[in-house]
Amino acid sequence: MAAPPILSAPHKALLKLGLGRDIDLALHLPLRYEDETRITMLRDAREGETAQIEATVTACEIAYRPRRQLVVTVDDGSDTCVLRFFSFYPSQQKALAVGTRIRARGDLKGGFLGWQMVHPVCKPAGSELPQALTPIYSTVAGLPQNYLRKAVLGGLARADLSNTFPPEFQRQIGPQSAWELYRALSFLHQPTPDTALAALEDRSHPAWQRLKAEELLAQQLSQLESKRERDRLRAPVLKSVRPEPVEGLRQAQPERHLSLHEKLLAILPFQLTPAQRRVGEQIARDLGRAVPMHRLLQGDVGSGKTVVAALAAAIAIDSGRQCALMAPTEILAEQHFRKLIGWLEPILAPLGLRVAWLTGSQKKKERGQMLELIASGEAALVVGTHAVIQDQVQFKQLALAVIDEQHRFGVAQRLALRAKMTHSTGSGRSEPMEPHLLMMTATPIPRTLAMSYYADLDVSTIDELPPGRTPVVTKLVADSRREEVVERIRAQVAQGRQVYWVCPLIEESEALDLTNATETHEALSAALPGVMVGLLHSRMPVAEKKAVMSLFTGGQMAVLVSTTVIEVGVDVPNASLMVIEHAERFGLSQLHQLRGRVGRGTAASACVLLYSMGEGGRLGETARARLKAMQECNDGFEIARRDLEIRGPGEFLGSRQSGAPLLRFADLATDTHLLEWARSLAPVMLDRHPGLASQHTARWLGGKSEYLKA
Ligand code: ADP
Ligand code: MG
Repeated sequence: MAAPPILSAPHKALLKLGLGRDIDLALHLPLRYEDETRITMLRDAREGETAQIEATVTACEIAYRPRRQLVVTVDDGSDTCVLRFFSFYPSQQKALAVGTRIRARGDLKGGFLGWQMVHPVCKPAGSELPQALTPIYSTVAGLPQNYLRKAVLGGLARADLSNTFPPEFQRQIGPQSAWELYRALSFLHQPTPDTALAALEDRSHPAWQRLKAEELLAQQLSQLESKRERDRLRAPVLKSVRPEPVEGLRQAQPERHLSLHEKLLAILPFQLTPAQRRVGEQIARDLGRAVPMHRLLQGDVGSGKTVVAALAAAIAIDSGRQCALMAPTEILAEQHFRKLIGWLEPILAPLGLRVAWLTGSQKKKERGQMLELIASGEAALVVGTHAVIQDQVQFKQLALAVIDEQHRFGVAQRLALRAKMTHSTGSGRSEPMEPHLLMMTATPIPRTLAMSYYADLDVSTIDELPPGRTPVVTKLVADSRREEVVERIRAQVAQGRQVYWVCPLIEESEALDLTNATETHEALSAALPGVMVGLLHSRMPVAEKKAVMSLFTGGQMAVLVSTTVIEVGVDVPNASLMVIEHAERFGLSQLHQLRGRVGRGTAASACVLLYSMGEGGRLGETARARLKAMQECNDGFEIARRDLEIRGPGEFLGSRQSGAPLLRFADLATDTHLLEWARSLAPVMLDRHPGLASQHTARWLGGKSEYLKA
């Protein structure tokens, strides 16, 4: 084997930046530009501008007041300017000797003493001026701009940047059609001095538009390819059929002749809403096809997604197969487990089937038993956390996987799940079978996101809440009026109601986070004698968390103080008041989810958003606007749209945790027209120009395309 090549430090830094391939280098675009193409005369300079001057040094001395510094005076014939250096080497002092002509570049400040520059970049005057704006790249330690600049230009020269847009596309994209990829990139790395910097900064320049169009097309192609690939895969056909009638029993026990699906519908304590019925039918239709379902079920908090999942599970079990339901936290999983056991166990038990339970904190023995049930197929339904996708878990015949709160899982976890499922449908045939996949989310996905990141998903939407819910009234209350809030809690508790109090996650410091919650817990306990006030935080042992949670669900605990938002899915219908402390620190969708924890029963419910004044005793403009949006708006879709606007898609999709790349150049808020263009052309390109299509996705996505398919 050949010895690994020895890499220089800057080369290693390049790899660290993900700039291994020529194309990666070519696509590493400048953060901003500096204009070194011109020399400004001091006479014509403007206050605050970054200017490059050429001048002669007329004085150079070290001053000691107010602190040690090198003070250099220069004269360019039109005016003078003082250059100040608070740290400097003797060699610098020498290079700035009186009489030397230098070129200095820095931010110009005017004032009583005339022009000044602090720490300008200086070099000898007279060298040729560059012909293009100087690009400044994002970089890391050990990788100087100069080295990076050369590397990028090298990559640009070597990379295959031949045009991949089929000729008929060119005409449709307007002004950027003339900007083929190579031209666009060459330009963006070295724009001519006459370029309006604003058009580069706001990315409206045709070169930018071209790049965005290319990127979006790659994304759409990759999604469409994965959808088509999936459509070629086989999945078990799942249908609810009634059991064979047994002679003589029909009269005596008519319910034995119902399918599980029908039995479940019959024992539910409520009628499905029309929306639940509609999405249920969509799912049933998917399950009945021999192609794996890949469906996202979105519905506002409290819209009743769990029962839809249970009905889908019943169809899988009716077909003699297994279903897995995965939730992001133990408490959520446990809650599902209870609910599903309540609904399903009575109808599964007569068939000798069970519901199994898998979590990370489980005792070894219990876990072993569960694994056996799952492997034998006796567990018709498996509920749990990530533990469900771990290696030791072997399903006998998994046919349906449901992921709840799917946006809380990282992309990598979703990939792992899909990979796992593919190997465990137990079809026993040579052709691999994929299970059906149902993802659920209470964070509705705005249209542009659905069109881009979820382009290969089918989407079902529950757009109404079950009847009898009283809308939650949202109040904004300044933190200084906490006393009144405590009063309100007392009143609710006196009526037998329960209350949540959520403290924010302080990202920089988990410890601070905890102190805050602990103090709130103590203060509330003291203010509410005789009332059980509980505390839940992320660093508590799981068993303790569960104990607290079960006291709250059981109704003994009246007030629950919780540090984080990890438990967003909990369902306690008797809870009627939600207090969110430092509400200004939460994302809108998060707030909406939290608010959805109340108003689940028939009691009039309220959500109090406590906010703290920032510096200067005022809440910032945006913070106020956001909280107001919460107050005015009860519709999760509208809130999601505003949230996307504020936070951008990265955060929205939760991809930060997984580090998966999102769109680098295009911006879904402003580039909808390009997205629509890419979306309509992707199928045409795949059909008519498959070679160009794969060249295009390989260039743009390289090894990353897997992530987009998750
Ligand atoms: P989410 O969509 O937020 O997951 P859940 O599935 O937890 O909502 O449902 C919220 C509550 O509404 C649960 O207590 C559930 O049993 C109840 N529920 C669901 N569907 C209906 C319905 N059609 N009518 C009345 N209550 C319902
Ligand atoms: Mg839920």
